[in-house]
Amino acid sequence: MRTIKENIEKINEMKAAAAAQCGRTGDDVLLVGVTKTRTADEINEGIDAGLTDIGENKVQEIMDKYDFVKPVRWHMIGHLQTNKVKYIIDKVSMIHSVDSYKLAEEINKRAGQHGLVMDILIQVNSAQEESKFGISTDETEEMIRQILENCPNIRIRGLMCIAPFAEDPNDIRVYFAEVKKLYDQYGKIQHERLDFQYLSMGMSHDFEVAILEGSNLVRVGTAIFGERDYSKQK
Ligand SMILES: *Cc1c(COP(=O)(O)O)cnc(C)c1O
Repeated sequence: MRTIKENIEKINEMKAAAAAQCGRTGDDVLLVGVTKTRTADEINEGIDAGLTDIGENKVQEIMDKYDFVKPVRWHMIGHLQTNKVKYIIDKVSMIHSVDSYKLAEEINKRAGQHGLVMDILIQVNSAQEESKFGISTDETEEMIRQILENCPNIRIRGLMCIAPFAEDPNDIRVYFAEVKKLYDQYGKIQHERLDFQYLSMGMSHDFEVAILEGSNLVRVGTAIFGERDYSKQK
């Protein structure tokens, strides 16, 4: 079995190779290590091996581990209930999973209470999978407008997408391509609180094709830390 450090090196090579295929470099694609179900010790091993950013999908896990993990940027990447925003608002540097205006309003309110401006991504469900969160491609522009108009404590940094699982990731490239199109389109909106820099697409099994379709932030868990044991997740 490879160590966490060896896995990270391998992923960095793969991401650089994919980026090179589309005229970019590995540095143009941010690696966020997904640490759900992992212990603080495992996460710290990843940080020692070079991870600068980690992603969690449950509020409870962020709270449980926060004090034991070395300095790093935390990303909230999972579905976020409005009543839990208050617990993480001062801990995470970006929320990838904004999938309703109601959630944006709550983030805006809590960020205001802490005197901060929260970076967010809008989660787009381009495959319209019932089982996944995210808004439809049709609703994206309206939500961006609403947030810019009414949420002074939010800065919109880009879009996020979770593609359906496919044995052959080439089969789902179209869903990444669709979100990339929106990213290019809405990134042109002129507004002081819209600053597109992140297109968060791609996980362990599909991050290479996601990069080929324009992703510049990949969320990788299993390929770094190994298979997850969900019985460890609260
Ligand atoms: C778990 C998770 C990932 C990472 O998945 P892997 O297949 O382990 O790389 C990425 N994004 C989100 C939103 C997740 O919940």
